[in-house]
Amino acid sequence: LVDKILDLLKQEIPQIEFERYIKQLSYDEEASRSDIAIFYAPNPLVARWVKTRYGDKLSHLFELKTGIKPQIVVEVKNSKKRVPVQQTSENSTDTGVSKNSSKSTILNPSYTFESFVVGSSNQFAYTAALRVAEKPGVQYNPLFIYGGAGLGKTHLLHAIGNFNLARNKQVIFTSLEQFMNQFTHHLRNGTMDRFRDKYRSCDILLLDDIQFLSRKEETQKELFHTFNELHGNGKQIVMTSDQHPKKIAGLEERLRSRFEWGLIVDIQPPELETKIAIIKKKCELNGIHIDNEIVNYIAANMGNNIREIEGIIIQLNAFANMMNQSITLEFAKNVVKNQIKERSENITIDDIVKVASRELNVKPSEIKSKSRSRKIVEARRIVIYLARSLTPNSMPSLAQYFGMKDHTAVSHAMKKINEMIDKDENFKAKIEELSHKITSATVE
Ligand code: ADP
Ligand code: MG
Repeated sequence: LVDKILDLLKQEIPQIEFERYIKQLSYDEEASRSDIAIFYAPNPLVARWVKTRYGDKLSHLFELKTGIKPQIVVEVKNSKKRVPVQQTSENSTDTGVSKNSSKSTILNPSYTFESFVVGSSNQFAYTAALRVAEKPGVQYNPLFIYGGAGLGKTHLLHAIGNFNLARNKQVIFTSLEQFMNQFTHHLRNGTMDRFRDKYRSCDILLLDDIQFLSRKEETQKELFHTFNELHGNGKQIVMTSDQHPKKIAGLEERLRSRFEWGLIVDIQPPELETKIAIIKKKCELNGIHIDNEIVNYIAANMGNNIREIEGIIIQLNAFANMMNQSITLEFAKNVVKNQIKERSENITIDDIVKVASRELNVKPSEIKSKSRSRKIVEARRIVIYLARSLTPNSMPSLAQYFGMKDHTAVSHAMKKINEMIDKDENFKAKIEELSHKITSATVE
């Protein structure tokens, strides 16, 4: 079965990536089940890479073949035994490692507080997470961590989980998507009591990517009751999101207000020194050697998404192994350049409209309308400016997109924004932040 699935995958992804990453995997026949497929990778970076790049695809291919969509787990070979998080109240026994955790979610053992590099960008989030891990349910309940893609939110959630598994606490880690899928599954099968038992009997509930609650009324209702039950019993809840609760659209007021009961902390994009320290730490943990000069180059030229930076490290390392030579600055430059190019090729004007309208508080339809209201005109100009710098669209094609007469309107918008950037530092910062949000959103 797995061979067939990998064959299908092979047809869907670039040959070189298949050779480089997928071929390094081995499948755990014995431990896998219909709802969970377990693979092993030679090191944490490849594991992470496969999981984020191909996890969904793999899961989908399994579903095609078996009718069941499994959770894909990619672990590091020879690392310590997997740590399934205890899920059911019946086994509230000793070790926190339960044998019959048929739907166990897996904590990544390499995401710990020790492997997390602290800098001023993430210091508050780190400290709050550590406090909560040490004294769950006592202070800061719930803890709400928000910030852009690849800044370490999920890492901190796992760290809280790992810390407490070691202390025999019942920990549940779940993405909101998984929570939602399980909820609908149990609802359909009339087994809601099992679902509720599970989620309402843990000591610590770690909920990742809560922004997906947006407009999911039934899931929100269920989570509301789960929240009350846990919180009322002094159990800890930790959530992450890419946005402040105030900015999550279509979120019930009563839930939003509960999210704000405890502590809300954000993670900012890392400063250069933190990026450098993270790269060094990743190399050290994975036994990879990269010269300082190259580390500095990567840190200075890559964006702020650490996941992407890890991608670069893996590619460099894979190359060095394949060619049996050390990594040169020249090669690193090439890999970074390609990555940046690939990223910008994937951005569309719609992506830009989506992010800009959210951040600037106007509707996407307004941006594309002919409205002359000041706020909308400015938002439209910003979108045009960003589309010119982040996508390969020409001025005429942008004019067409916005239903403008010809490209002179586009160049006028560009001129206005350029003037404002020159004049106003704050405005410049705002544009840079937007640009960052767009590029990191597309990479996810
Ligand atoms: P998010 O959930 O915010 O999108 P993740 O927690 O998945 O981001 O982080 C992406 C990758 O970057 C992970 O492999 C994580 O280990 C790494 N990472 C992010 N921030 C740090 C940090 N401060 N120290 C070490 N690794 C980090
Ligand atoms: Mg995450």
